[in-house]
Amino acid sequence: MNSTTVPGDRAAARRSLEALALGDAFGERWFPLFRPPRQAYAEVRARRTPHEPVWHWTDDTALALALQRVLDEYGEVEQDRLALYYALAFDADQARGYGHGMHMLLPLLLSAPADWRTLAPTLFEGGSLGNGAAMRVAPLGARFHADLGHAAEQAELSAVVTHSHPEGVAGAVAVAVAAALSVRGEFTLDAVAERTPAGLVRDGVLRAAEVPFATEPWQAADLLGNGHRIRADDTVPFALWTAARHQGDLEAALWATAEGFGDVDTTCAITGGVVGAATGMDGVPAEWRLRREPLD
Ligand SMILES: [Mg+2]
Repeated sequence: MNSTTVPGDRAAARRSLEALALGDAFGERWFPLFRPPRQAYAEVRARRTPHEPVWHWTDDTALALALQRVLDEYGEVEQDRLALYYALAFDADQARGYGHGMHMLLPLLLSAPADWRTLAPTLFEGGSLGNGAAMRVAPLGARFHADLGHAAEQAELSAVVTHSHPEGVAGAVAVAVAAALSVRGEFTLDAVAERTPAGLVRDGVLRAAEVPFATEPWQAADLLGNGHRIRADDTVPFALWTAARHQGDLEAALWATAEGFGDVDTTCAITGGVVGAATGMDGVPAEWRLRREPLD
């Protein structure tokens, strides 16, 4: 840890990580792989807890754990080590639902982690603008809640190792800032937009700020995107809108996010990480906590 390192709040980071994993595992249950869309829709509307005894988490949590490990060890983002830990997470279980870009990139980083500098910017001709950097970053924001500028800067460093497109980075910054504000009890969509770099993600967060909380979540998802395009700007605004709508109530936040469907493990991971940074897991049903696959 160097002398300029901002001290991190490990307890807040852990709360966020646990809730991110819960959102990820809960959200994954609504994919067509597990229940047909019509059934998923009816069950979400009826708030029926998924019956499966174990809810496995996916790549969102695997990479959040890798990021957490680097921050625990170094106190800040050490990018070459982070590239290695992302690659190790992928190598440990490639069937966690990684996107196409990560299937191309992460195996290469396993033997040459420092090559993220040249490899990540060439993904998809200009770097990935996917939601992968946003989905794993909420615990980082919770950890550095004492200094919003530091949280944003560390989020950017954590993003570019895999997602070097400005929109991929902006998605991570927005989510980290939201989680930090959540811990501080100061979370609003306007405050997130204020600290998000200009671009499509920021525009989306500003649009989300204009959507009244009386709006049905599925309608909000129609307006803001639900992640089905797997882009940061199509994922982050809706996930933050439901998080803002249900601050202090993780269970309600995750149900509302699930109503948007789309990339529902990732939207629920983002919402969970942001809301849970403040609430922890205490408010969710014991059954949910038991069913979510353990973290370690
Ligand atoms: Mg996933």
